[in-house]
Amino acid sequence: DKTLHIIGGGMAGSEAAWQAANMGVNVVIHEMRPKVETFAHQTGNLGEMVCSNSFRSDDDEQNAVGLLHWEMRAAAGLIMTTADKHRIPAGGALAVDREPFAESVTAALRSHPNVSVSDEEITELPTDGNWIVATGPLTSTALGKSIQAATGQDHLAFFDAIAPIVYADSIDMSQAWMQSRYDKGETEEERTAYLNCPMTKDQYEAFIDALLAADKTEFHEGETAGYFDGCLPIEVMAERGRETLRHGPMKPVGLTNPHQPEEKAYAVVQLRRDNALGTLFNIVGFQTKMKYGAQTEVFRMIPGLENASFARLGGIHRNTFINSPTLLDSRLRMKSRHNVRFAGQITGVEGYVESAAMGLLAGRFAAAELLGQEIPEVPLETAMGSLVNHITGGADAKTFQPMNVNFGLFQPLEDVRGGRKGRKIRYKGYTDRAKEVWQQWLASQS
Ligand code: FAD
Repeated sequence: DKTLHIIGGGMAGSEAAWQAANMGVNVVIHEMRPKVETFAHQTGNLGEMVCSNSFRSDDDEQNAVGLLHWEMRAAAGLIMTTADKHRIPAGGALAVDREPFAESVTAALRSHPNVSVSDEEITELPTDGNWIVATGPLTSTALGKSIQAATGQDHLAFFDAIAPIVYADSIDMSQAWMQSRYDKGETEEERTAYLNCPMTKDQYEAFIDALLAADKTEFHEGETAGYFDGCLPIEVMAERGRETLRHGPMKPVGLTNPHQPEEKAYAVVQLRRDNALGTLFNIVGFQTKMKYGAQTEVFRMIPGLENASFARLGGIHRNTFINSPTLLDSRLRMKSRHNVRFAGQITGVEGYVESAAMGLLAGRFAAAELLGQEIPEVPLETAMGSLVNHITGGADAKTFQPMNVNFGLFQPLEDVRGGRKGRKIRYKGYTDRAKEVWQQWLASQS
């Protein structure tokens, strides 16, 4: 049977269906709404945006998500071309009139001769046939359990706990230093795997005050029901006692500051390499429900991070996602079941655009396989390639958390370095290179 079955008609499932159907494959979308509801979706439409109506920056020369827009448009993506049709003014961002947007996505798919929609919940991870699982952050409980049973308890999470991620080149190394606690590790690389930022007593006290005073977001109603397993936000730890963090993630033991070897730090903030390239560092243990504005303010109080730029800020949300670095190959196939692919937020990308992007790839890969066509690997120079490479290869499986697209995931351009001006030139270099290579990749399939 050459039919492609897609579970979930959200951002990823809709895009995957569109791509595969346009390549000539028969597609069935299995969507549980409106029969079975989630706490966030409001309608039975395909491609419903559950929260904000923004696809973020549309700048395809200086912004990685803007570049991803460009790549998806070049691939005639349904989500992007429909977003363009229903665009509403929002400065440099791509904001969308959400209801007509979802209605258009639904109409385009329901009227496509190669697509049919089956209104049902799929409760088990399929074994036979050709499938894409695109059930998103709110995957139904039954299917979530079935995926967990098939992949192992530790390979499916029901919450994300995201610590802020900082661009390495924005950290002030005249204050920070590289060292693992107690110099642990077999190799020099392991002994210097962490980046440390020291605090005096006064700095620590001021930091705790700022954490306690910061604006926070609440969980949505129904979001924590029966799930939340106590991955504590940093501000909640601070609320439990002013010393809690100094004895937890900020403990100063086993570390010597080479800039001030005589003086023992009162507390130390540790950052851990977040990708193989070493361009991104996450602040260890700093998952948080602080609002974004408050986060940048509070985290820039950390010595060494005064001028930090953030690849992403922290958060804790209800979010079903699998450990893609362990479970998926570079074509988004389950390593243990090649007839089942995953796409969208459940693969550990984050956001409407990134989810649709992984749908676009999964749809093309699955259709090509059914049609017996070859598709080359997605080039690493592109936003698509950087993102799929991160979730299936670049990220550390042990600490895997959902990721937005950002330039820290890109292969560095060696010849352009340093400073704000340098960064602008570098980003333009990344986007120019990506566009050229992406077009070649698309042309290789037509
Ligand atoms: P979805 O768009 O959620 O699509 C998955 C689909 O699968 C749904 O239609 C669901 O009904 C269906 N489904 C689930 N289980 C089954 C099953 N067993 N059988 C059949 N169908 C099933 N991203 C942003 O970019 N901006 C935001 O502001 C934002 N806010 C968010 C707020 C909340 C409360 C949540 C939960 C998520 C938010 N996200 C936001 C993330 C957003 O959900 C994703 O970026 C995007 O929708 C993911 O696309 P997807 O296709 O992977 O999942």
